[in-house]
Amino acid sequence: MDIRPKITPIYQTSVFKFEDLNELESYFSEPGSRYLYSRNGNPNSDELADAINRLEGGTGAIATGSGMAAIFAAILAYCQAGDHVLCAADIYGGSSTLLNAELSRMGITVTYVPFEQFYDLQQFVRPTTRLMLAETISNPLLRVADLGRLAEECHWHGLKLVVDNTFATPVITRPLALGADIALHSVTKYLAGHSDVTAGVVVAADEAIAARLKQIGVIYGLTLSPMESWLAVRGLKTLRVRVREHSHNALVIASFLANHTGVREVYYPGLEQHPQHALAAKQGAGMFGGMMSILLADDAEAVNDFMRRVKRFPFAPSLAGVDSSLSYPLGTSHRALTSEQQQNLGITTGLVRLSIGIEPVEELLADLEQALA
Ligand SMILES: *Cc1c(COP(=O)(O)O)cnc(C)c1O
Repeated sequence: MDIRPKITPIYQTSVFKFEDLNELESYFSEPGSRYLYSRNGNPNSDELADAINRLEGGTGAIATGSGMAAIFAAILAYCQAGDHVLCAADIYGGSSTLLNAELSRMGITVTYVPFEQFYDLQQFVRPTTRLMLAETISNPLLRVADLGRLAEECHWHGLKLVVDNTFATPVITRPLALGADIALHSVTKYLAGHSDVTAGVVVAADEAIAARLKQIGVIYGLTLSPMESWLAVRGLKTLRVRVREHSHNALVIASFLANHTGVREVYYPGLEQHPQHALAAKQGAGMFGGMMSILLADDAEAVNDFMRRVKRFPFAPSLAGVDSSLSYPLGTSHRALTSEQQQNLGITTGLVRLSIGIEPVEELLADLEQALA
C-alpha cells in the first residue's frame, strides 16, 4: 500500500532503525539523508525549525524545548566563561533571571542597557562584550526597538545582536532582514498560538552559527519532542491570519481603553500617543500585535476587582493564545526583579498586561466595559 499523508505524521519515536553498518555509515557521510535519534533530529522538529527559518529568513534554525532553552542556546552560541553580554533593561523576566542567577555562575556577566541608551552603547561595551539581547517589542511596556539602528550600533562595537521576537512574530517584524544575527522565539506564544505547547526556536543569519546552534541543542539536550513540534507546526500554519486578527482586535480595544476614565494609561504601539508609534508602524508592516498593558489605580484591590469581574480575560500568566487572557507582571514575569528595578521599568501595582485574542471584538469590548464600570 502506498500511504501518502498530506501533512507530516507525528514520528513519535525516540530512535530510528538501521539496516546494517553501511546504513549507519551513510547517516554520517550524507548529512540529512537519515535520522538516528530524536534528540539529534526528528522529522517533526525539523519541519518546525525549517518553517520558522523560512518565515524569519535565516540560514538555519533549531527547535528547542522552550523559549528559555532558545535564549540559553543563543547566548551559548557566542559566549563562554569570561565573556560579557549587554541586555535590554526591558526584558522578559526569565531572561534576566537566566543571566543573573545562572549564566553568572558560568562566568558570563551582564550589563543592562536602559531603552533610552540603545543607540549609544559605547559606555557599556568592554573588550569581552560579545552580544546584546533585546526584544523587538518589549515586555511588559511594549517599547519598540529600532532594530536596524540597533544592529548598526552593535556591529559598530563588534557585538552580535540577538533579538527575542516573541511579541512581534515574523509577520510583524523580521529582525534578520534588519541586520540582527539571531532571531529567537518562545514558540509557546504566537507561533504555536493555542496555549497548548511549550517550545522555542532559534534562527541564525549565519550558517556557521546555525551549525553551532544545532550542536548546542543536541549536546545540552535542548531540543524539542516530536509531539510538541507537530502541534507547533499545526499552529504555525495560521500565524498570518491570527496575527492580523490579534492586531485588529488589539487596536480597537486599546483605543477604547485609552478613552476610558477607569484606565490611567494604555501601553500599545498602535496608539498615536505611543512614543515609538511611527517606528512601530514602519517596522511592523502596519500591524502592532495583540499585546498591551494598562495601568489601573495603583491599588491591589482595584486589580483584584478587575480580574474577578472580567469573564473573557482569565488571569493566566502567559500570552498570545487565540483566546484572550491577562497577566500581572509585578507578581509573575517580573517578580524576581528588585523593587527598584520594577519601579524604574514602570512595573507597578496597577499594571495589568492584556493578551488580546481573536474572539469577536464586540464581545471583548462589552466584557471590558462591564468590568471597568
Ligand atoms: C514566554 C517568553 C519567554 C520564555 O519562553 P518559554 O517558552 O516560557 O520558555 C521568552 N521571551 C518572551 C518575550 C516571552 O514572552
